[in-house]
Amino acid sequence: MSQAIPMVDLKLQYQELKSELTPLLESVFENTHFILGPNVQAFEKETAKYIGVKHAISCASGTDALHLALLAAGIKEGDEVITTPFTFIATAEAIRYCNADPVFVDIEPDTLNIDIDAIKAAITDKTKAILPVHLFGLPANMDKIKKLAEKHNLKIIEDCAQSFGANYKGVQTGAIGDAGCYSFFPSKNLGCYGDGGLITTNSDEMADTIRTYRNHGSSKRYYHDVIGFNSRLDEIQAAILRVKLKRIDGYNAGRLRVAQAYWDNLCDLPILIPNPEPTNSNHVFHQYTLLSERRDEIMKALQDDNIGCAVYYPVPLHMQKAFDYRKVKENLPITEHVMKTCMSLPIFPEMTDEQIERVCSVIKSVFN
Ligand SMILES: *Cc1c(COP(=O)(O)O)cnc(C)c1O
Repeated sequence: MSQAIPMVDLKLQYQELKSELTPLLESVFENTHFILGPNVQAFEKETAKYIGVKHAISCASGTDALHLALLAAGIKEGDEVITTPFTFIATAEAIRYCNADPVFVDIEPDTLNIDIDAIKAAITDKTKAILPVHLFGLPANMDKIKKLAEKHNLKIIEDCAQSFGANYKGVQTGAIGDAGCYSFFPSKNLGCYGDGGLITTNSDEMADTIRTYRNHGSSKRYYHDVIGFNSRLDEIQAAILRVKLKRIDGYNAGRLRVAQAYWDNLCDLPILIPNPEPTNSNHVFHQYTLLSERRDEIMKALQDDNIGCAVYYPVPLHMQKAFDYRKVKENLPITEHVMKTCMSLPIFPEMTDEQIERVCSVIKSVFN
């Protein structure tokens, strides 16, 4: 059996960071300021600067980031939020946490991001926000989303869980809409060693609300203005994230190198692969996802050679049981075609040329 090539290898990155992380974690333990301590404060300042926003507020997860941002945007019972069905469930769970309803619209066949004409067609007088996801690390078409939002007076909450470091026309994702929501789940482009999340915004008012909600509805200790949550990033994770933030551009460049090599090797095959250099934006390749009618054959060949691969996402959200309560049956043909033909290949910054070549030669063998 050939040596395994995993979808992601977090161990390589840890080995490289170990000598820096070990004394750093010891200093956090010695300091004992574990909740909203100095590393959390510094990390918020450093990410706000990196992303180019006035405020970055950390919280316990990407899911919480979406929930807190939607609350701060005033989303409440009876409101509709337009989003993509082709994403991780957290995107729409957060809408339900506000007792609002997700409205799922179709995606673009080439970018796999939310389709602008489909958003337009779904706007009603209940619509309060658009929640685009920069899926797999590719920014959604933010110019057109902004235009629509301005015209209909809607908030834009960006799901940036997969797009840390991506920019659209030179502006970072998370700095374009009313708020950006990040996840630091370990396998994300900027991942910690547990759960973590962050909200970015240029609005002082939204930032205040989010800071209050994440800490038991309290802006002054033991005075509680609203019923809030316990949703904070912890000091240990913040310390780790600060070390990784300094390296994020290098990590994303490593992912782009892999995507470019896949492009060079696979672009002549009858499969649809992502352009490593899209116009208007940079792709940070959280996932490398291709489309092929022969997906199942390709996956079997890779698995037979001990190479990781996966389907993101096998069941789009409008077809999930959790959303049956809506009694709506959307017809979303592009999404339903993509779910049957999509698959993702291994991608991580440390992937070697030999590993990339082995993945490509197995895929080519399917078509020979
Ligand atoms: C990972 C992810 C989330 C949720 O993040 P958690 O930190 O796991 O809660 C939300 N949206 C998308 C698109 C994601 O990929």
